[in-house]
Amino acid sequence: AALTGAAADAASPGRVVVRHGQNLYVADETGGLHHCLFRQNLGELVCGDRVVWQPTGSGGVVTARLDRTSTLSRPDYAGRDKAIAANITQVVVVVAARPEPSEYLVDQYLVAAEQIGVAALIALNKIDLVEGAEREALLSRFARYPAIGYPLVTVSAKRAQGLAPLTERLRDHTSILVGQSGVGKSSLVNALLPDREAQTGRLSETTGHGRHTTSAATLYRLPGGGELIDSPGVRSFRLGRLDRAALEQGFRELRDYVGRCQFRDCSHAHEPGCAIRDAVEAGKIHPGRLANFLHMAEGLAPRY
Ligand code: GDP
Ligand code: ZN
Repeated sequence: AALTGAAADAASPGRVVVRHGQNLYVADETGGLHHCLFRQNLGELVCGDRVVWQPTGSGGVVTARLDRTSTLSRPDYAGRDKAIAANITQVVVVVAARPEPSEYLVDQYLVAAEQIGVAALIALNKIDLVEGAEREALLSRFARYPAIGYPLVTVSAKRAQGLAPLTERLRDHTSILVGQSGVGKSSLVNALLPDREAQTGRLSETTGHGRHTTSAATLYRLPGGGELIDSPGVRSFRLGRLDRAALEQGFRELRDYVGRCQFRDCSHAHEPGCAIRDAVEAGKIHPGRLANFLHMAEGLAPRY
């Protein structure tokens, strides 16, 4: 072929596993890790980025960053969006029997997932803590989500129960776990990644820099297939700023009705001829979802 020659042969695809400052740890196609440097003109490189890299004597150099399918970002100290992870395909919203779950928080995470354009599912953890009527009540509270296409899995990280359906859902994805403190995210990560230490241990071997710090977003390979990107920053990912149209799109079951209200600028709160309120009346939209939409809409900048 025309592109033969040492340089072309040596360029291979890779995935950024973790970044520490100017150092990248890139997984090759067989999972082997390489310490790579990169040129500043490639733009920001973060965990999950797909790259092209070339081996050098001791490690490698990243020569290109491929387009991202999604970017998870957070505002930096100056309020500018800064990427923390790339190419995530799924958000797992973790809730638990205790602390008392909040559908409002769940809805914020779901809007955030819709906004970055990735799939979402809900993992209801600590199911071992409830039984009988209490358990039924909890499940019926969350039944609104599978009804609109967000899968719901019930698990007990502590007892390692119900993990198979979750593992199955993670298989074809690059996922992150999000949720409030205390719901069992670390416990779940430990249950899903029994070899987490081994994977980070391989990183320190590659780096020779001693123990790998786990504060940076890191891409792990799940034993049952798929990948998990984990870090405290990723777990505490929250809804960013958005406008009204984005919020309407963020509540997926509203999309069919948006634009059908009598008033063009309908707030869906009190106007006559509101297609969305009609849909709630008709049992097609859960009233709790509309209430949370309206509450989130209050936080938006006023329209002129
Ligand atoms: P995180 O803050 O979301 O990372 O939550 P942790 O994983 O630290 O868990 C918070 C607490 O909940 C810990 O005391 C865990 O032992 C406990 N926990 C986690 N998963 C379960 C579970 O499935 N059942 C029960 N009963 N406790 C759990
Ligand atoms: Zn309306």
